[in-house]
Amino acid sequence: MAEVASASMTKMYVKGQWVEAQSGETQEVRSPHDGSVVDTVPRGSRDDARAAIRAAEDAFPEWADTAADERARLILAGVEKVKEKQKDLAKVLSAEQGKPVFEAMGEIHHFLHGMTFYAGLASKIRGAQVPLPPDMGKHSYGLVLKRPVGVCGAIVPWNFPITLMGTKIGPALIAGNTVIVKPASSTPLTSLQIIGLLNEAGLPAGVLNCVTGPGREVGEELLENPVVRRIAFTGESGTGRRVMEVAGPQFKRITLELGGSDPMIVMPDADLRKAVSGAMIGRFWNCGQACLAVKRLYLHEEIHDEFLEALLKKVGSYELGDPATRPEKPFVRMGPLHTAEQREEIESQLADATSKGAEVLIGGSRPDDPALGSGHYFHPAVVANVSHHSRLVQEEVFGPVLPVFKVKDLDEAIVLANDNQYGLGSSIWTQNLTWSNQAIREIQAGVTWVNQIHYGYDELPFGGVKASGIGHEHGPEAVDYYQETKGAVIGGLA
Ligand code: NAD
Repeated sequence: MAEVASASMTKMYVKGQWVEAQSGETQEVRSPHDGSVVDTVPRGSRDDARAAIRAAEDAFPEWADTAADERARLILAGVEKVKEKQKDLAKVLSAEQGKPVFEAMGEIHHFLHGMTFYAGLASKIRGAQVPLPPDMGKHSYGLVLKRPVGVCGAIVPWNFPITLMGTKIGPALIAGNTVIVKPASSTPLTSLQIIGLLNEAGLPAGVLNCVTGPGREVGEELLENPVVRRIAFTGESGTGRRVMEVAGPQFKRITLELGGSDPMIVMPDADLRKAVSGAMIGRFWNCGQACLAVKRLYLHEEIHDEFLEALLKKVGSYELGDPATRPEKPFVRMGPLHTAEQREEIESQLADATSKGAEVLIGGSRPDDPALGSGHYFHPAVVANVSHHSRLVQEEVFGPVLPVFKVKDLDEAIVLANDNQYGLGSSIWTQNLTWSNQAIREIQAGVTWVNQIHYGYDELPFGGVKASGIGHEHGPEAVDYYQETKGAVIGGLA
């Protein structure tokens, strides 16, 4: 049984215990709101990653042999513990990531929903019995067996550190695998607390480990070490390429959930009130730092002006400020960007667009308020007359800036939607079935929503095309990536 999770959160979790880095080194986690130190965690190295890999390897045979119902029971017991602490966990997540507390609560809910979904699937995984031709022997038959892959590495980014950890550990654990989680260096705290709680609920030591430290050391050890048979990675497309370079030659099972630049198309018959709300959540939730985010808005010329007017009014209701506090109604809280570099990147993408003739309709600057001077704050922006060749369109924009385009029909909107290296999400807003079907068929993306922007689901498979990734997370389909399929033939029967 694992050690109880009341230990200091400045440690990481390996083989059922809270441990320091073997080097004794630590790294600070700083608040995006004011730069203060939220906590420190071990700065793990390759040695620490190796220790966790050994622990996961040792724990694997027993966990793989544990009955599926028992695995599910232990996961659900952990879910209950996380539920009890969810308010405190949301505060930690808000402090380290910078998202408002109510958004952090939403993220923890999504994690709980996902883990419950996978616990429910544990006992439903099945292979098949296959009839064989008589010349293979009288009464002989084939079996399709599902077996866990072994030790898995889960590499997680900072934008949704908890849900994206859940989409990996849920399917991995129910299928009988053991896991090492590698959180982003700037958001390890809530992940560590949750991993402690899941272990406290009864997971055997070594089944679920967490090593903090730089991607170039801890992450690369997971990619290189031959004991790790499966890498589930979420992060930038550039890092995804590195994952392929290092883990690919070892024929590891790899899934990559990478960047995106989702188009949103609004047709003249759309419910504009709902579509404006969709654009707001789609672009500005999490301060625009979402892989699945409305990053380009294509408005039909008939509703362009009306839509834009309503959108700008809503964008004006965001109030920048401490993510731990709520503004007076009708204002809505927007926290800081996660890092200084993130803000500089957005600013340089915006400057590139304006240098090519774009017009900033609202926002697009740092706040004057001295109280926000040490945070990475940025007024959410809407931008018109943007060249489709500008960085604001062709790159992933990971912050609250929305370029808007006027289109004459759906064909033009789809051509522009597809003029991009990414293919993650997309949406169309219309009551017309022919238009929505055309969009579903022709937009190059892993998912197309019709009259909806709803990110918090676990039921459907989700994954990108083009530079947005390989493979799927979510849904029963995700479990396939954590299983080997083996054939067997039963012959020689009387
Ligand atoms: P990132 O690629 O910088 O880091 C992601 C993780 O990889 C971190 O834990 C990091 O420490 C680790 N890492 C870095 N270098 C590594 C290496 N050489 N080897 C192994 N691991 C390494 O990404 P980020 O900035 O944390 O996250 C933002 C990006 O993630 C955006 O591009 C966003 O679109 C993408 N994202 C995609 C999805 C999706 O489902 N498609 C979801 C969320 C975020």
